[in-house]
Amino acid sequence: MNELRKDYLLDRWVIIASGRAKRPMDFVSKCAEYPVGSCFFCPGNEKETPPEIGRIERDGKWIVRWFPNKFPATAEEQAAVSSGLLESRAAFGRHEVIVETPLHTQDFEELSAEDMAAVFSVCDGRIKELSTVEGVKYVLVFKNRGRDAGASLAHSHFQVMALSEMPTLVAQEASASALYRKEHGTCPFCDVSAREASSERSIWSDNNAVALAPYASRFPFEAWVMPKRHVRSFGELSPAEQYSFANAVKQVLLALDRMINKPPYNFYLHVSPAGEDLHFHMELCPKLSIQAGFELGSGMNINVVTPEEAARHYKNNL
Ligand SMILES: [Zn+2]
Ligand SMILES: [Zn+2]
Ligand SMILES: [Zn+2]
Repeated sequence: MNELRKDYLLDRWVIIASGRAKRPMDFVSKCAEYPVGSCFFCPGNEKETPPEIGRIERDGKWIVRWFPNKFPATAEEQAAVSSGLLESRAAFGRHEVIVETPLHTQDFEELSAEDMAAVFSVCDGRIKELSTVEGVKYVLVFKNRGRDAGASLAHSHFQVMALSEMPTLVAQEASASALYRKEHGTCPFCDVSAREASSERSIWSDNNAVALAPYASRFPFEAWVMPKRHVRSFGELSPAEQYSFANAVKQVLLALDRMINKPPYNFYLHVSPAGEDLHFHMELCPKLSIQAGFELGSGMNINVVTPEEAARHYKNNL
């Protein structure tokens, strides 16, 4: 049955078109290749990147390093220009890159869970520091893996964008959370993690973290990872909880890699905006479908894999 489902919180609907049901194998495709050449994220080419902001070293060599994006999508200045319909101003903010492995072909999920947690701590540190920059309203951390998911370079990396506008999606999640809390007295993400950890949409869980295929998944094999305890950022978690969160991300990504042979994907971290109380979480969107006329025209997605099926396939590949 083709079904309209609403997001747990948002007024966001998807058509779950299970009549067109697909298996993971139906999505296996050749990944777009990168041109061969020297990579400026590789060790030895550090001078090719903008001046480094920080690094983590092991045995005298860097294992994680971060620096400003050479081709930022943000602007340094805060100029305002606006007139009637044509409103614009400088895209003030910061745009940084975190290279989380010195190895050119290593994927994030191939790091140990401990090292992944250390990378999330670096992300958390950048979010905290950039949030103090005058004029910055939100800091979004995300990863694109694969050309088809928008990664212009093969070498695995994160991007950090400090923005002078609150992203619409985050604002909607924060206000919907506040409304839910007013009506029910609880955090919706706490309720989702408690309810879904043992549902047919559960992918993986331990005492501290849960990975699930959300009820109104927008994309085939969409998955969310969240700490069970209510926190607003990764940094508020205890070391054991940080390990669990990183391990949950690792298990989900590795299962996806096994299931569909390392498909392109995007994921992003949603930390709470300042002054709000949004439950920290990560959303993984495998890039297996395209936004076509229906999606563009309606703002609604058609997803051909039910989250229940997706969770089953994830679990079979853990
Ligand atoms: Zn490289
Ligand atoms: Zn919560
Ligand atoms: Zn979110």
